[in-house]
Amino acid sequence: MLRERVSNNIYVFTSELYAQVTAGAILTSDGAIVIDTLPFPVETRQIVQFLEERHKTPVRYVINTHYHADHTYGTSLFTHARVISHRACLPLLDTKGREGLERAQRSSREMATVRLTLPDILFDAGKMCLHLGGFTLEIWHAPGHSPDSIVCFAREDRILFAADTLMPIPFFSDGNWSDYVATLESLLSETFENVVQGHGEVILRGEVPDKIREDLAYLRSLRAQVEEIIVQGAGVEALAMITLESCGKSRIPLNGLVQQLHRSNLESLYRELVEI
Ligand SMILES: [Zn+2]
Repeated sequence: MLRERVSNNIYVFTSELYAQVTAGAILTSDGAIVIDTLPFPVETRQIVQFLEERHKTPVRYVINTHYHADHTYGTSLFTHARVISHRACLPLLDTKGREGLERAQRSSREMATVRLTLPDILFDAGKMCLHLGGFTLEIWHAPGHSPDSIVCFAREDRILFAADTLMPIPFFSDGNWSDYVATLESLLSETFENVVQGHGEVILRGEVPDKIREDLAYLRSLRAQVEEIIVQGAGVEALAMITLESCGKSRIPLNGLVQQLHRSNLESLYRELVEI
């Protein structure tokens, strides 16, 4: 696990075991807020040790930015924390999340100790503000990557924890293309000091608008090309001709995993558009 200090009191932890997934922590005089966890217990335990043993800062809140396994499997390791999520996260975690964990436990011994923890503080529309030790975390719904995705904004430091709303390529096969575009457009009107992506490197202030515009261009180019295939009456196999490069993205990030995500995007958008 890699650890990076992005401001005086804010740290980002990046998994070295799975797809550069990130977790964040805000340390305050009244305890810590943890934003997402890492999928393998061995790495989340290092976060617990860093905060609670080294910094003597108990974790008061864990935020689940969405129900996906790679962000939520570590929640139960923060034994005294309240868990916050969007209202849509709880039923998804309790159904799809639970089934996924059972599958993971059958195939991976490292997952044997993972216990599903359901969020106990839920919010719905608007902005939720969490005040702790002089810090303010604003949290709001940002659907697109998944129906329950949220983003968290550390107001004093102007750091956005974008979760999987920002990652090397937008990935929406469990979400929705139109929601994703609307969410990204809404982020363009804000200024951020740093943006912590759900996977991959922290984005610095000057790079943020270009990154968001590049993601919007990817989504629009992908849609235009899928629509063209449908209009031409070409079958689903024609999707293979729509490359990441043709949508303005590189195939290198996340050790090439982005190619798999891109293929899933193509297939789900094709299905969605053909069904209309
Ligand atoms: Zn996700």
